[in-house]
Amino acid sequence: MSQNPYLNYLATLTRAAERMQLDESEIVRLRYPERQVQVSLPIRMDDGSLRVFEGYRVQHNSLRGPYKGGIRFHQNADINEVKALAAWMTMKCAVANIPYGGGKGGVTVDPSTLSQTELERLTRAYANAVYDVVGPFTDIPAPDVNTNGGIMAWFCDEYSKRNGHLTPEVVTGKPVPFGGSLGREEATGRGVVIAAKETLKSFGEELAGKRVAVQGNGNVGSVATMLFEKEGCKIVAVSDVSGALFCAQGIPGEKMRQYALSRTLLKNYPLSEGMTFIPGAEGNAALLTVDTDILVPAALENQITAENVAKVQAKYIVEGANGPTTAEADVALEERGIMLIPDILANSGGVIVSYFEWVQNLGRYMWSEEEVNAKLAVQMGNAVASVCANAKKYNSSLRMGAYITALERLTVAQKLRG
Ligand code: GLU
Repeated sequence: MSQNPYLNYLATLTRAAERMQLDESEIVRLRYPERQVQVSLPIRMDDGSLRVFEGYRVQHNSLRGPYKGGIRFHQNADINEVKALAAWMTMKCAVANIPYGGGKGGVTVDPSTLSQTELERLTRAYANAVYDVVGPFTDIPAPDVNTNGGIMAWFCDEYSKRNGHLTPEVVTGKPVPFGGSLGREEATGRGVVIAAKETLKSFGEELAGKRVAVQGNGNVGSVATMLFEKEGCKIVAVSDVSGALFCAQGIPGEKMRQYALSRTLLKNYPLSEGMTFIPGAEGNAALLTVDTDILVPAALENQITAENVAKVQAKYIVEGANGPTTAEADVALEERGIMLIPDILANSGGVIVSYFEWVQNLGRYMWSEEEVNAKLAVQMGNAVASVCANAKKYNSSLRMGAYITALERLTVAQKLRG
């Protein structure tokens, strides 16, 4: 089976449509992105040289509203990855029941090799290059892997200059003093924990007391780690690009968040009694098969694959990342009875609070953090309920339950719009 994530998406879409006995005509539009934009971005580097970076914006589907989805800066970003990420946003927004379609952007670059001024020029060049296809009612970007509020502020500023007036609602995930929403930065990680807690509850299980291993200590993983601990879980492993920390007695969650916020790599963590550190890719691979109750892949795609799926020991997998499980591994996990809370449900907290940010921008409101978090809990709770209900009704995995939920809503939109 291919590691092309778009083929993984298509395989899962086909499986869900078959389960629902849908006619191909009801889902065929979801197989093709509505628009794919590829741009080249010539950037003057600090040393005077000129480099050209490649960028993408894929607009997958707009049946339910404007395209919505993040922008990723990563050396491995390519058209197939961005297409898959855009399609998953279509599904995610439908599961979350927010009035958006799906899109995604990417630039092929390792931003850690750029200076701040180079990063700003690259972001502004990208904003200019996609200016014609984005907009508050057409396509609303947001942060994703290696992008953040600061980058969204540059994007917004560049768009606003060309648009003639400040247009905060063109992008979400902005810094709070620049039109961002309270609670947005933590929303994805917070949502991961809500999804885990509510799903377990729906199957008569409790989150408290469970052991948790988190792959990725970025904005999603580090918040999830901290909040899992607050829920009474024990964190037995955490990783980042530098490697993985293991400790059966528990790793302090709050510390992991501090490491993420200060961009300190885990290899610098002072090891205490009973703690081990395995560097690099080897550590990250070991984390996936560690003895734990809950495994949270919160880094990149294609982590749980046909090669390592048999060695996964977790009873529950909560996908903080987009697409961390290949379609083949997904089927194997289902056969083994491992419960997997899929990306399009588990990590939807980010785009849900992005929606709240957009609503606040359009209405010129500012909600309190309590209000945002309360609304997030309600929206995610409803999404979990719909997905669990469909999984039970169709006697299927939660991934199928989530795709079925999304397809029910998307096919209704298609019927109504004709
Ligand atoms: N990049 C995030 C995701 O994959 C958030 C997207 C958004 O807020 O639009 O869901």
